[in-house]
Amino acid sequence: MAMVSMRQLLDEAAAGGYGVGAFNVNNMEQIQAIMEAARATSSPVIIQASRGAREYSNDRFLYHLMLAATELYPEIPVALHQDHGNSPATCFSAIDLGFTSVMMDGSLLEDHKTPSDFEYNVGVTREVVERAHAVGVTVEGELGTLGGLEDGVGSGEIHLTDPDQAVEFVERTGVDALAVAIGTSHGAYKFTRKPDREVLAMNVIEEIHQKLPDTHLVMHGSSSVPKHLVDIINEYGGAIKPTWGVPVEEIQLGIKHGVRKINVDTDSRLAMTGAIRKAMAEKPEEFDPRYYLKPARAAMQKVIEERMNGFGQAGHAGDYEPRSLDEMRDFYAAAVH
Ligand SMILES: [Zn+2]
Repeated sequence: MAMVSMRQLLDEAAAGGYGVGAFNVNNMEQIQAIMEAARATSSPVIIQASRGAREYSNDRFLYHLMLAATELYPEIPVALHQDHGNSPATCFSAIDLGFTSVMMDGSLLEDHKTPSDFEYNVGVTREVVERAHAVGVTVEGELGTLGGLEDGVGSGEIHLTDPDQAVEFVERTGVDALAVAIGTSHGAYKFTRKPDREVLAMNVIEEIHQKLPDTHLVMHGSSSVPKHLVDIINEYGGAIKPTWGVPVEEIQLGIKHGVRKINVDTDSRLAMTGAIRKAMAEKPEEFDPRYYLKPARAAMQKVIEERMNGFGQAGHAGDYEPRSLDEMRDFYAAAVH
């Protein structure tokens, strides 16, 4: 079994100077695509489920698929993470289910649409940290808001993270990782042109990292939205409008400045949908779901392998022995926070 604490996985990434992709899942094929990519590249990996994913799949299905993954791929350290918990209750249910990490996104109120104030964010995040660390579970917080929508989540407004406020937030909450807003958005429509320094505030990451060298930074909305994947969808009847994502080179710059977790969902969705459209168009007489799910899974695996190589996590699966959550609980108890 190689279910690992996300804190340990990110500490190791910091020591090794690389980033780790956090890939969203909703079903078996996506989990298989990620695990095959991790095996092919020998990568530690974060698998994450949003509230929408837990609802879609019934989260016990997802959890048991994850257990199967740790049995079948014992050499791969895997952290199982709740993406965008909207309330302490959501995070606690994930912890009870067996997730090794949770995100308390208190940048928005519980409706997950209305931007919250700083004191609310500190309060709910601190509450989750206390309960999570007591059982060895990692916590990611968020300060500032992203644009776009993810499973209907988000205010659509962008508020960049203030570096001084980030310092106060981390001190008062004790989070292990901090999602920062630097101008990225959730979903496929991130930028209407190739992003430059005016729309993607990489300097904010540099400044936060200087002030908080020991906090693992997280980039959300960091799919690269490759043109060739969009083109396949459109070639086979899709209607994706011209769009740009976050270039891998920009993410690599972030990794130089303390970014350790990079959230990727849209690229997987684009890869699968393009492969399904192509398969269905090429053999309209086929009706076995395996006929189109196999190439969909393979296409997702390919784009994830590219990200694992790009983020630098490739080759690091065997670097360390996963610590148990009990050991992590003792680690937190010994730390002053
Ligand atoms: Zn996100």
